[in-house]
Amino acid sequence: MNRSFDVAVVGAGIVGLASAYAAARRGQRVVVIDRASETLGATVRNFGHLCIGAQTGLAREYADASRPLWLRLARDARFWLRESGTLVVARHDDELALLEAAAADGGIDLLSAAELEARVSVRGALAVGGAWIRPDLQTDPRSAAAAIRAHLESLGVEFRTRTSVGAVRTGRVETTRGPVDAAHVVVAVNHDLDQLLPDLAESVGVVRCGLDMLRVRADAASLSAPLLTGWSLLRYGRFAGLDEAVVVRERLHAERPDLAALDLNQMYTQLPDGSVIVGDTHYKGVGIAPFQPETAAALLLEEFETLFGARPRVVERWQGVYASGPDEFLVAEPEPGVMVLAATTGIGMTTGLGLAETVLAPRFGAVAELAPTPIPEGSPR
Ligand SMILES: Cc1cc2nc3c(=O)[nH]c(=O)nc-3n(C[C@H](O)[C@H](O)[C@H](O)COP(=O)(O)OP(=O)(O)OC[C@H]3O[C@@H](n4cnc5c(N)ncnc54)[C@H](O)[C@@H]3O)c2cc1C
Repeated sequence: MNRSFDVAVVGAGIVGLASAYAAARRGQRVVVIDRASETLGATVRNFGHLCIGAQTGLAREYADASRPLWLRLARDARFWLRESGTLVVARHDDELALLEAAAADGGIDLLSAAELEARVSVRGALAVGGAWIRPDLQTDPRSAAAAIRAHLESLGVEFRTRTSVGAVRTGRVETTRGPVDAAHVVVAVNHDLDQLLPDLAESVGVVRCGLDMLRVRADAASLSAPLLTGWSLLRYGRFAGLDEAVVVRERLHAERPDLAALDLNQMYTQLPDGSVIVGDTHYKGVGIAPFQPETAAALLLEEFETLFGARPRVVERWQGVYASGPDEFLVAEPEPGVMVLAATTGIGMTTGLGLAETVLAPRFGAVAELAPTPIPEGSPR
């Protein structure tokens, strides 16, 4: 087994895959090491919502840098992705006022209630209007991650799975299958940073955030794009920082303290098979209990029924976890040549490709574009 590479990436989630993609396109010999048998972390547990137009500041820069990479990867690695934009349903005048204020900066089109209802099957009487966030994309995270891995393998990237990393230092990664030498080490382990580099995680205040998610089927639920609600607007920088958000937050929290206690982001994405991903709740801490309270799921399902007027049937339930910190990203070099990359809020699918490209490109030099070898029949599409 080869023990020596230019770049060793720890973690096969979207940030690790993005790092490997940035390196391989620049002619580097890359190995990706993951303790799991396949990508099973936050990268396959999310909505597949690439929420570009709702970001601000550095997150927007990384999101904008991600967009062309997602489009290109979807084409080259052949997985489902749609240039859907994002729909937002406003159910109160204060939510509409917040959307209007955000739309003033461009990239967001305001919709009448009738225009919104033509694109998503929400109960007519509930909406006072809405918006369409134009730059956003949607993918199916499960098939995307598998297809990106297959594409990277076609570019010569080696994957070592079921292999745990116990320590990283300049030029070397210690794994449960022996050491790997590499000039560059990229650590992309999400919340598990608190195990691999606990002192770093503690010093920057990275903890864990746990989320409850459901996938449901419901007759007549039809979404031409991911759907956000007023609760979502309170979470994304483009909206949450505006004065108009204060009124929305105060009203929603006063009206529904039970939902506020869940730290709700009421949102939905529909997959190509018609099922709908429903979420989500948030709970933060140094450790996250794996026990999902049924009251949270019951509230998520009730809210679904109220919004769509259709009773959902649960297909799957799962818990997701991501790193949570005081800033939206962690970029650190604890030892020379050891780069730590993480999205430290729930926007890593949106920003991860751009984060890795932006931070790592200067280290790996000019792009030496590689022609992918053909993907054999039967590979993920
Ligand atoms: C429920 C949920 C919904 C979300 N929705 C969205 C969304 O719609 N849009 C969006 O932009 N973002 C969303 N996010 C956030 C996004 O999914 C994450 O930010 C992103 O996937 C993080 O990617 P990652 O590569 O850092 O982590 P992960 O995908 O978790 O990958 C980390 C990998 O590191 C491996 N690893 C850890 N420690 C070791 C070790 N010591 N040795 C070897 N391997 C190791 C793990 O096995 C894992 O495969 C959501 C997250 C969750 C949980």
